[in-house]
Amino acid sequence: MVIISSIKNPKTISLLFRYFRNVRYSTNVSSFSTKSITPSVLLPNCCRNFPRYDPLVNYSLKNIVRSSSYCCNLRNCAKTHEIQASRTYKSTMPPTFLQKSPQEIVERCISENKVFIFSKSFCPFCFKVKAIFRSERIGFDALELDLIENGAEIQEALFAKSGQKTVPNVYINGEHVGGSDKVQELHSKGELITLLNPKTHSYDYDYIVIGGGSGGLASSKEAARLGAKVAVCDFVKPTPIGTTWGLGGTCVNVGCIPKKLMHQAAILGHDLKDSREFGWSTPEKPEHNWNTMVEGIQNHIGSLNWGYRVALRDKKIDYLNAFATFVDEHTIKTVDKKGKEKTLTSNNFLIAVGGRPRYPDIPGAKEFGITSDDIFSLPYSPGKTLLVGASYISLECAGFLHGLGYDVTVMVRSILLRGFDRQMSEKIGEIMEQMGVKFLRETIPTSVERIEEGQPGKLKVTAKTRSGGQVVDEYNTVVFAIGRDPFISELGLENIGVQLAKSGKIVVDKREVSSVSNVYAVGDVIDGGLELTPVAIQAGKLLARRLYGNGKELMDYVNVPTTVFTAIEYGCCGLSEEAAVEKFGEANIDVYHSNFWPLEFTVAHRPENDCYAKLVVLRKEGEEFVIGFHYLGPNAGEVTQGFSIALKLNATKSDFDNLVGIHPTCAEVFTTLTITKRSGKDVASQGC
Ligand SMILES: Cc1cc2nc3c(=O)[nH]c(=O)nc-3n(C[C@H](O)[C@H](O)[C@H](O)COP(=O)(O)OP(=O)(O)OC[C@H]3O[C@@H](n4cnc5c(N)ncnc54)[C@H](O)[C@@H]3O)c2cc1C
Repeated sequence: MVIISSIKNPKTISLLFRYFRNVRYSTNVSSFSTKSITPSVLLPNCCRNFPRYDPLVNYSLKNIVRSSSYCCNLRNCAKTHEIQASRTYKSTMPPTFLQKSPQEIVERCISENKVFIFSKSFCPFCFKVKAIFRSERIGFDALELDLIENGAEIQEALFAKSGQKTVPNVYINGEHVGGSDKVQELHSKGELITLLNPKTHSYDYDYIVIGGGSGGLASSKEAARLGAKVAVCDFVKPTPIGTTWGLGGTCVNVGCIPKKLMHQAAILGHDLKDSREFGWSTPEKPEHNWNTMVEGIQNHIGSLNWGYRVALRDKKIDYLNAFATFVDEHTIKTVDKKGKEKTLTSNNFLIAVGGRPRYPDIPGAKEFGITSDDIFSLPYSPGKTLLVGASYISLECAGFLHGLGYDVTVMVRSILLRGFDRQMSEKIGEIMEQMGVKFLRETIPTSVERIEEGQPGKLKVTAKTRSGGQVVDEYNTVVFAIGRDPFISELGLENIGVQLAKSGKIVVDKREVSSVSNVYAVGDVIDGGLELTPVAIQAGKLLARRLYGNGKELMDYVNVPTTVFTAIEYGCCGLSEEAAVEKFGEANIDVYHSNFWPLEFTVAHRPENDCYAKLVVLRKEGEEFVIGFHYLGPNAGEVTQGFSIALKLNATKSDFDNLVGIHPTCAEVFTTLTITKRSGKDVASQGC
């Protein structure tokens, strides 16, 4: 608990605490004990400029003050320092902690914290030591002896215990390390990390990671960097038509990377058409060569696969290109492609096996259909293509295939882009339809038959509509994109009793621990997570830091930005309009919106009102908090990535209004949104 008073503007208090979301606080001074802390912190009004909470350091006000390069008033404020010290204890110790004997304080600081620094707030050597830990991304706790009443007595007690008079005085795992010179020496020899993770078991490894995709690779490399002995097992079971790939998982081989590159191929085609309006002489109907594109993309992926192998070798991580199955909670059996078996043991395991595309249970689906696992390396041009499903993967594939000049149909059972903002999803559908993509709504396939051999050959697809009608058509290629299932059926989870959710995914707590205490899971395989590469990477890294780097930070699944790379790109962050209304009630939600016409569309005569921007705001305490960001237009990923930080920092609509735009850009539309949906005013594009 932190008490703040003496702030002129009460709004400042709430602003301040919006930055420190993980601090429990109250502005009602009488609501908690003030025994061990001074109930007053003098904060200047510039508190909006405070540096952010440092996730590596166990949270306390001291860190904010220490690293503040903005608020020099604070740094020199004695009262603040008192609070600093109190808050430090309170992060890990009970409130009466400061009243203990100096000896007891020393003992508890050392025994209850993996890495502890007895420090002084002004000491440059202490800064240096902390900077070393920070640079290694090792979490630490610290006590500033000059900022507490009994600091001198504690230093005496510390001298009696360690034989060291000066600060910094560093302890790791209860062992006395020494001062600044010693820490620097250990750091330069690379031994600091060894002290952090002494071997306490007799298993082959500290950490075996099953799945060398986004989450698994990130976590394994971070754990190895922090001194753990690590192995990674990665194995790709071929698709029904025999497609397989290298190390790196879905994103690199059959996901984000080839998808974005094919999307880029389609954009180039569109740009070629536009270029004529800008004076270029390009053929009326530029031709695209599928095989050239696939070869270029696959070469790039090959280089990424190789890079991952090299990175594992450089980090001394054992890589097994083998399929892993649990035998018990500390043992796995691996089988490589030649059928060679191995048994490995480990103290901890990470399951990061991701998912694989689902096939419908209809005749011919697996025999003649393909999925996103096949499309990016398809050795022949797909021809007239049916995409089954309305997932983002389906619409993205439809977008680039249409952009490359193919006849494309999307078969949709119910709604487009389930889980995304409804208005935006429907707008994407409309624009794609205007571009020439065909949609078969409320229809599901019932069979696929081959009617002509060849590559691609010809397939007959029979489907039924919701109203009971039948649709039959012929296609060269059928791509199923109806969802993905976690790839765990052969993982032997039943042998160790890992709990699964209704979704079939692994249940983990907020520390990514499964129901088996030494078995963790991240990425697409966890229940309630987000199926996105950066999420898997971040969760994997943070987990490794918590396991081997004394880290405390948990994965934050809130306000994660994302982009759908459809022909018209859609970027979003935060809540959809529907989710916001459901959560906060319609009366508390406003939606600011506008169409816009990107400058590059004007000369090219592209439609004026395809692009659209909207902010969903929550009206609360006289402020309008932006809780949903939605953008339909060019470079949606770049635009959304930038603005998403604003949502992370709880920006208000007036923050967006106060932001000066960059002209002429698409993103600047968010600095000038004035029309609410409630007003019913026209938002058609007004030009530049
Ligand atoms: C078409 C498509 C486009 C996508 N586009 C984007 C995008 O634009 N942006 C984005 O953020 N995300 C995108 N994603 C999602 C992203 O690819 C995933 O969220 C991410 O790859 C998940 O990482 P992961 O570590 O959980 O698993 P994966 O990357 O899937 O890795 C799992 C690995 O484990 C291996 N494995 C499985 N079982 C075993 C076993 N028993 N033993 C050994 N190895 C095993 C698998 O073969 C695989 O190599 C896309 C996905 C697809 C399919």
